[in-house]
Amino acid sequence: MKKNLVVAIDGPAGAGKSTVAQLAAKELGYTYIDTGAMYRAVAWKTLQQGKPVTDELILSVVPDIDVDLQYTEGKTRVFVDGREVTGEIRTPEINKIVSQVARLGPVREKMVDLQRRMGERGAVLMDGRDIATHVLPNADVKIFLTASIEERARRRCKELQEKGYDVDIEGIKADIAARDKADSEREISPLIRAEDAVLLDTTGLGIEEVVAKILGMCR
Ligand code: C5P
Repeated sequence: MKKNLVVAIDGPAGAGKSTVAQLAAKELGYTYIDTGAMYRAVAWKTLQQGKPVTDELILSVVPDIDVDLQYTEGKTRVFVDGREVTGEIRTPEINKIVSQVARLGPVREKMVDLQRRMGERGAVLMDGRDIATHVLPNADVKIFLTASIEERARRRCKELQEKGYDVDIEGIKADIAARDKADSEREISPLIRAEDAVLLDTTGLGIEEVVAKILGMCR
C-alpha cells in the first residue's frame, strides 16, 4: 500500500461521511478533516452576531474569523477565535443556515485555502461536498458516499434524539432535502460526484461494513 494517501469523501447530508471517515482514519492512523465543520463554524459565528442572517452579515464575519480543527484521539474539536464550539455547531439552527453560508465565494475561498494546507502533507482523510472535485482533485482515493433520503433522515433523527432534541422525521427529511438541493444547485463548487470517484451507497449497510469497504479501497 502506498503510504500517506490523500483520501477524499464527498456526499450529501446524513450519508454518514463523518462517522465512517473518522473510524477509517483511526484505522489507517491518518488525520481526519471534517470540512463541513468549518462551514458550520462560520455559520455559528454569524448567529452569534444576534442579527437577521443576511449574506452581508455572513461576509462581515469572514475576514477575521479564525477556524481551527484539532484532531486528537479519534475526535475532532472545532474552535472559533479560540473558543471551542464542537457541540454548538451541530444544531438544527446551524443546519438551517449553513448552506447559505457555504454558497458564498469569500467563505469558500478562505475555507478551501485552509483545507488545502491541511491536506498537502498526505495521510489525511477529508470529507465534504467538493473535496474530490475542487479541494483535492489529485486525491489518491475518491469516494462518493450516499444513501436514500429516508435512511439519511432516520440517521439524523437518531443523532439529534441522542442529544435530547425533540425530532420529527418529516421535518428532518425536508431539511435534508432542502440542504441537498441548495448544495447541489449552488454556483460555486456544487455537490457533485467526481467522474473518478467510486460510488458507495450505504443504504442498508452497517457502519463497520462501510468502513471495511473504504479501507479496502485504500489498501
Ligand atoms: O457535512 P456537513 O453536513 O457538516 O456540512 C454542512 C454544510 O457545509 C453542507 O450542507 C454544505 O452546505 C457545506 N459544505 C460545503 N462544502 C464542504 C463541506 C460542507 O459546502 N466541503
